[in-house]
Amino acid sequence: MDQSILVVNCGSSSVKLALYRTTDTAAPIITALAERLGGEGARLRVEGEKSFSCEEAMDHSQALATFIEECQDYLQDLAAIGHRLVHGGEAFHESTLITDDSLAELEKVSVLAPLHNPMNLMGIRLCRELLPDLPNVAVFDTSFHQTMPAQAYLYGVPYDWYETHQVRRYGFHGTSYRYVSAETARRLNRPADDLNLIIAHLGNGCSACAIRQGQSVDSSMGLTPLEGLIMGTRSGDIDPGLLEHMMRESGSSMAELMTALNRNSGLLGLSGISNDMRTLLQHEAAGEPAAKRALDTFCFRVARQLAALSSNLSSTDAVVFTGGIGENSADIRRRILANWRNIQFRLNTALNQANGDESGRISETGTPLVLVIPTDEEQMIAQDTLKITGL
Ligand code: AMP
Repeated sequence: MDQSILVVNCGSSSVKLALYRTTDTAAPIITALAERLGGEGARLRVEGEKSFSCEEAMDHSQALATFIEECQDYLQDLAAIGHRLVHGGEAFHESTLITDDSLAELEKVSVLAPLHNPMNLMGIRLCRELLPDLPNVAVFDTSFHQTMPAQAYLYGVPYDWYETHQVRRYGFHGTSYRYVSAETARRLNRPADDLNLIIAHLGNGCSACAIRQGQSVDSSMGLTPLEGLIMGTRSGDIDPGLLEHMMRESGSSMAELMTALNRNSGLLGLSGISNDMRTLLQHEAAGEPAAKRALDTFCFRVARQLAALSSNLSSTDAVVFTGGIGENSADIRRRILANWRNIQFRLNTALNQANGDESGRISETGTPLVLVIPTDEEQMIAQDTLKITGL
């Protein structure tokens, strides 16, 4: 029988949903985005085989209930629900079936991602309430990186911080890296466990990962998704001494500084214009130096991180770009690679503009291989949910 799977990504003020047929997880039949939940201007937009939109005050629970009510014809054969979980700590090396025990374990992990995991867990609880008796599966952004060796995941801090407080680097965007590395292998017609890749996931959140023989061996993100690259609103790497300096100089509290680093930094903070890459490219083209400053710094830092990650691989089969920026901006890809000066990348201008040929290639034949591979985290969550529930 043709059953369906619902993928749920529950964030602080949004819920993203995707409904798949179990016989075809390549593309969802219905997608939904509920935004500004619990605040002014809340709206729910549903597209695909069923489409409607609703603009009224609602919270997460009401948005989900409205979706279930309106799409009930499509949910008759719903067999399982897959959830995106940002942090799985060290407890979860792979996707897992949600039980009362695993939920209790997940609660403990939440201290590691207080901005994200509680919202993800709320999504699980709401689904258990609104759609009882269906199995729920958790798919973690961190689990793909559990193969990182200690030398890559330890910080140079007292070791008992790790033993007592789980302070270590975890890495995120793992579901994306898992999808993109498998898709790269498929397109290159090579076994995934044979490939050495440097992947840059550049979206509103940005990170990069070194993959050796199919496994993550290092990632730019750390204990939280704040470390590493400059992002839309997140600072990426900073000197922790900056915090004390700013507390003293500006009188800001730790909480205020953390908000600044998470929400008012990155491309937004550097430009003072926007966190959105498209907007910044337009402002730069119009001659605004603040936009150029932000983009130059962004590209320089990405190149530095990619080069550092590549020191971990004896050879690199491909550099792969993914995420909203990585998949769509020929200009940013070109500028990043131009900043990676010790390797002579040669992009094919036409292929770069076209976001790759059928294999995703944007480099000239016979030069270091550079690919653009669109990510699909929802598809990966749907596939894991299928596998774990044995559907
Ligand atoms: P994501 O979080 O993966 O959806 O990526 C969002 C980011 O991708 C935003 O900064 C967008 O401005 C950026 N983006 C999407 N399309 C383009 C494009 N055509 N050119 C440049 N940036 C883009």
